[in-house]
This record gives sequence, C-alpha cells and structure tokens, in this order.
Amino acid sequence: MVDIARRRLFSRIPKAQLDTQTPQRMPWLIEEQAFIDGCSRCNKCVDVCETNIIIHGDGGFPELDFDKGECSFCEKCADVCPEPLFLPRADKPWKQVVKITEKCLSFQGVECRVCGENCEYSAIKFRLQVGGSAKPILNESDCTGCGGCIKPCPSNAIDIYKTESIKQEV
Ligand code: SF4
Ligand code: SF4
Ligand code: SF4
Repeated sequence: MVDIARRRLFSRIPKAQLDTQTPQRMPWLIEEQAFIDGCSRCNKCVDVCETNIIIHGDGGFPELDFDKGECSFCEKCADVCPEPLFLPRADKPWKQVVKITEKCLSFQGVECRVCGENCEYSAIKFRLQVGGSAKPILNESDCTGCGGCIKPCPSNAIDIYKTESIKQEV
C-alpha cells in the first residue's frame, strides 16, 4: 500500500500546499487514499477516455491533464473501471472550479476572451473596465470544473481550485 500521508510527511510539503499537490483525479472518484489502495493500475480508464486527458501519473496511477483538454463527463472511465472506485453518477462529479489568475492577459491591458468563448457552460463573463480591457469574471455556480478553458488560454492563466479540502489528509 502507498501511504500518501506518510509520503508527504517525508517530502516536507507544508500543509497549506497539500491540496495543490494532490493529483487531479477523474470525476466521481472516491477519496484519494482509498483510490490509491484500490486502483490496480490496469490502465483501462486511460485507454477509454474520449478526450484523452487521463495520463499515467505518479506511481503509475491515472490522473488528469487539463493541458490536453477538458473532461466531457462521458462517464466512460467510471463505466470501464473493474474496481469499486467511483461514486454514484447522480452525485456531483467533483468539488472544484477554476480560478483565473493575474497571468490573465487582461491584467496587462490585452484584449482576450478565449476562455469565455471556450466555456460551454457560459460560466465566464467579461466586465468592461473604464479605460482598460474587459476582465473575465467567473460565476462559480455555473462552473463545472471541466477544465475546458485551461488549454485554450494563451497565457496559462487558469488553474483548478478545489472547493473542498481533502479531508483524509493529516
Ligand atoms: S468522464 Fe470521460 S472525459 Fe472525463 S475523465 Fe472520464 S473518460 Fe475522460
Ligand atoms: S483566455 Fe486566459 S488570458 Fe484570455 S481572458 Fe481568459 S484567462 Fe485571460
Ligand atoms: S472549467 Fe469548464 S465550466 Fe468552468 S469556466 Fe472553465 S470551461 Fe467553463
């Protein structure tokens, strides 16, 4: 068994950074330590993902790479998994939204609306600024955390932000 809390203890990562160090897993997945204990690393989910965003991560465990694209919530990873690692699909797929950081071009006076144009949930609107470029405003209640705005952003300004901390970590 790979003990995540123990591994992080020795890597001396401050607790405040732990959530950002946790790999991005698939939607509807059970909590991290139970996933690590139960995943056989069979790679079935990697092969079936329709947007090819599931990659071989640390230790051979599958994780998502939003730099490759977005999650379409197709449920194929959950359907193909032979282990009991996924929660009921009636639940929310995960508790995360994106965060638009100060690397956004609009903070430098450059007009850009790429993220809004690529959000199929219309979660990003633009607010005109007096004498400046329109700035993107995220409506968190509309954001599904799909990651669809991350890859198209020309300044790599969008991060995933977990809205609930990983409770099993100490
Ligand atoms: S739900 Fe579909 S698109 Fe999202 S990670 Fe799973 S297989 Fe890939
Ligand atoms: S795509 Fe990136 S740079 Fe462009 S407005 Fe959105 S966050 Fe800013
Ligand atoms: S993560 Fe998905 S839903 Fe949220 S703003 Fe980006 S594209 Fe829209």
